Amino acid sequence: MRFKQDFFEKLEGFYSQVYPQPISNPHWLGWSDKAAELIGLTKPNDELLMQLSAHHAADGATYYAQVYSGHQFGGYTPKLGDGRSIILGEAIGPNGAWDVALKGGGPTPYSRMGDGRAVMRSAVREFMISEALAALNVPTTRALAVIGSDLPVWREGQETAAITVRLAKSHIRFGHFEYFSYTEKAEKTKLTQLVDFTITQHFPHLSTDKAGYIEWFNEVVASTAKMIAHWQSIGFAHGVMNTDNMSILGDSFDFGPFSFLDTFKEDFICNHSDHQGRYAFGQQPAVGFWNLQRLAQALTPIIESDDLIHALNQYQRHLVDYYLSFMGQKMGLPTFDFVDNQVKEAARKEQQQQDLHLIGEFTTMLEQNQLDYTNSLRRFGELDPNSQHSSLRDDFVDLAKFDTWYQAYQQRVAQVADIDAWQQQRNAVNPKYILRNYLAQEAIIAIEEQGDNSKLIQLQQLLENPFDEQPDMQDFAKRPPDWGQGLIMSCSS
Ligand code: AMP
Ligand code: MG
Ligand code: MG
Repeated sequence: MRFKQDFFEKLEGFYSQVYPQPISNPHWLGWSDKAAELIGLTKPNDELLMQLSAHHAADGATYYAQVYSGHQFGGYTPKLGDGRSIILGEAIGPNGAWDVALKGGGPTPYSRMGDGRAVMRSAVREFMISEALAALNVPTTRALAVIGSDLPVWREGQETAAITVRLAKSHIRFGHFEYFSYTEKAEKTKLTQLVDFTITQHFPHLSTDKAGYIEWFNEVVASTAKMIAHWQSIGFAHGVMNTDNMSILGDSFDFGPFSFLDTFKEDFICNHSDHQGRYAFGQQPAVGFWNLQRLAQALTPIIESDDLIHALNQYQRHLVDYYLSFMGQKMGLPTFDFVDNQVKEAARKEQQQQDLHLIGEFTTMLEQNQLDYTNSLRRFGELDPNSQHSSLRDDFVDLAKFDTWYQAYQQRVAQVADIDAWQQQRNAVNPKYILRNYLAQEAIIAIEEQGDNSKLIQLQQLLENPFDEQPDMQDFAKRPPDWGQGLIMSCSS
C-alpha cells in the first residue's frame, strides 16, 4: 500500500492519532480481489496480514481516529468519533485514493464505554455487504478483507474479535459537520475548513466560495437521494441511518443490522433496537430527508438558509427521478423523454405519477401475496410483455387483481421488438442472488462452530456476479427457510 495523508496533514484538530492494538492469532477470513484492485494490491500475503491485524506498522501509515458527532435515533449526541475504527491514511490506487481503516482495531479516545473491537459476526457481515452492494452497482464503501482472531470479546456472551479492513473514498460523515457546527461551534473557521477540504478533495469541479458551497450542498442532496433510491429499488434496509452513518459522498456506509427484504414488506424493521420503526424499510426516503435537514442546519453558519432550503426542496424530485429510473429498468418501462419545457414537464410529471402508481400497485400485490421481492423482479427476465399470458401470474393468489395490473403494465410497455434483448436487459438489473440474512448467518455459524470460512468464500464469490444465473448455485436464490424469514439483527457488534 502506498499512502498519502491529506486528511491527516490538512485537518489537524479533526482527529486523534492513535495506534491500533493487535488481535491474537490473526487469519484471513475473507479477501476481496475486486477491492484490492482499487488500491493496487493483488493477492493477500503474510506481511499484509501482520499489518492489517496491527502486529506490524504499515509503511507510510499515520493511524488516527476522526472526531464527529451525530443524531442517533433522532437525538443529538454532541461527541461520537471513531470509537473502534482507525484510519491508516489514503492508499493510492489506479483510479484515485481510498481511506484504509481497521474497523475493530482497538480503543481510541472516542471509544467511550466500548472496547474498540468488533465481533466476528459483525465484521463478516460488513465485509460481505460492502462487496455485495458494490457488485449490485450501489454506491458504497468497500471492504478489502476481514481478519479473524482468537481474541475474546464480550457482548451477550463471549465471542471473538475480528477486523474489517474498510476502504472508503472518504470517511467524512454528516456528523462531522454537525460536530464542527455545534460542539466546537466557537470555531466557525473549522467548519469552513472542513467544507473546503471536502470540496477540494471530493468535488474538485466546484469552487470553495459561496457559489461553490451552494452547488456542493445541492450535489450532496442529489447523491443522498440517489443512494436511497437505489436501496428502495433493491429492497435494502440499512437499519441505523443515524447522521453519523451518512457519508457526505452518498455512499452506503457503516453497516450493522442491515437486511434485504425477503418477502416484500413496506414497514419491515431489521434492527432489533428500533422499537418505533424509525428506520423501517419504507421510512428510509423520509429519514434521508430528515438527515439532510440536520446537515443543512449544521451548515447555516456558512450557507444562506434560503439556498439550503432551495436545495432541500429538490430532494424529492431527485428521489423520484432516480427511483423511477431504477425501477423502470427493472420492470422494463420505456424511458420517458424528458425535455425541459413547460408543456413537456407537465406531461413528464403525469407519466411519473402513473409509473409510481403502477410500481406501487405491484409492490402492494407482492406484500399482499407475501411474495419474495428479489425473486419476483427477477421473473421480469422471463416475461414476454407482448403476450397476453404472463409467467408471473401463477405466483399470485388474487388473479383478478393481477390481471388488471398486468393489463395496465402491458399498455405501458407497449410492443417490444426484440424480446430476447429485452429479457437480457431485465436480467442485467434484477439480481438473481442477494445477501440474504440467513445465508450470511449460515456462513457465520460455520466459522463460529467449525472455524470453517468456506461458506463465506463461496457466498462472496457468488455475490460478485449477482446477475448471472450460476446454474449450480440455484439454492442460494431460494426464499429463506422458516427459521431464516425476516431475521432481525441485534445492534450489538
Ligand atoms: P454505530 O452504531 O456502529 O454507528 O456506532 C456508533 C458509535 O459508537 C460510533 O462512534 C462507534 O465508533 C461507537 N462504537 C460502536 N461500537 C463500539 C465499540 N465496541 N467500542 C468503541 N466504540 C464503539
Ligand atoms: Mg457508525
Ligand atoms: Mg458502526
